Amino acid sequence: MKAQEIISKASALQFSSQVITWYHQQGRKHLPWQQDKTPYRVWISEIMLQQTQVKTVIPYYLKFMDSFPTVLDLANADEDTVLHHWTGLGYYARARNLHKAAKIIRDNYQGHFPENIDDVIALPGIGRSTAGAILSLSLNQHHPILDGNVKRVLARNYLVEGYNGLAKFDKALWQLTETLTPSSETNHYNQAMMDIGATVCTRTKPSCSLCPVELSCLANQSERQSEFPQKKPKKKIPEKSTIMVIPRIATAQTSQVLMEKRPPTGIWGGLWCFYEIEKTSSLDTLLNKLGLKAKEQLSLPEFRHTFSHFHLDIKPIVVDCEKLSGNKIRQEINETTPQRWYDLQQNESVGLAASTQKLINQLRPLAQLIE
Ligand code: SF4
Repeated sequence: MKAQEIISKASALQFSSQVITWYHQQGRKHLPWQQDKTPYRVWISEIMLQQTQVKTVIPYYLKFMDSFPTVLDLANADEDTVLHHWTGLGYYARARNLHKAAKIIRDNYQGHFPENIDDVIALPGIGRSTAGAILSLSLNQHHPILDGNVKRVLARNYLVEGYNGLAKFDKALWQLTETLTPSSETNHYNQAMMDIGATVCTRTKPSCSLCPVELSCLANQSERQSEFPQKKPKKKIPEKSTIMVIPRIATAQTSQVLMEKRPPTGIWGGLWCFYEIEKTSSLDTLLNKLGLKAKEQLSLPEFRHTFSHFHLDIKPIVVDCEKLSGNKIRQEINETTPQRWYDLQQNESVGLAASTQKLINQLRPLAQLIE
């Protein structure tokens, strides 16, 4: 049965007015992206907030806005600078898509963020819910949203069976959110639904006594909050391992490590990383290709980096090197893959993979000792 058939107009109206009243009394209104709300500013916040908590996002958002106050500033920046602002936030495809979309807005929309929802959805990295959030929160257009927090609130309220990503579940929730989203104060309603999901109807131990829809919520009535949404059946994710080589040249004046830029697609796409080899016996071949010769090597503690689809166990080896000839790394690698010597004493403006950043943080104190 469709949502419109199970929810009367009156109960939809009651639901949305309770949510809007809660917004006026308790909703969050002081976050940086809630000031001077423009589609551009809301867009950046919505993308940063995907998979990431508010308190983590705030400093990144402020710095990003400081560097790229307008969509044109973002479009005209080089990719490395944009990725550098994302270092540590993870899911780097989000930053690459922001940059691509900004260029499209510059080239096809004279630098004005589009205000038609289909145009917004057509931009890279923006789905239907994010587009709805951008246009409703910044321009008060009437569009429903359905992020993970809203899904949880609705699934519990109406006991919708299924889990995130299951087509039947998502379809039922889209019908619900379309039915419930009011045409006036859509901005406040959507903001409140996201906030209720994030702060009241939390994944574990929801605070139902503080919830504006406490009385009508079916999960609350039957004390089945923890059953909704259902958990996605777990797939065991594979484990892989790699050896990460960090060529280093340390002198009394400086300590530099060599890294390469990954191709734009695949893991750590477009980010700067150290060199991967499968077995230690390949080390000399790699160094030779780079025009380097090992003097000493040092193993750092192994660590695990988890991607959405596999675990990667990383065994880092720092190799103190000298250059074989001249100052340049070998041409055959240089032509296909950009390389750079990264100065450990500087915080260079480049997009680093999380694993690279982690290793640099370990190596920095050593570099200072040498200094
Ligand atoms: S009453 Fe409880 S379970 Fe229902 S929406 Fe509110 S917080 Fe979530």
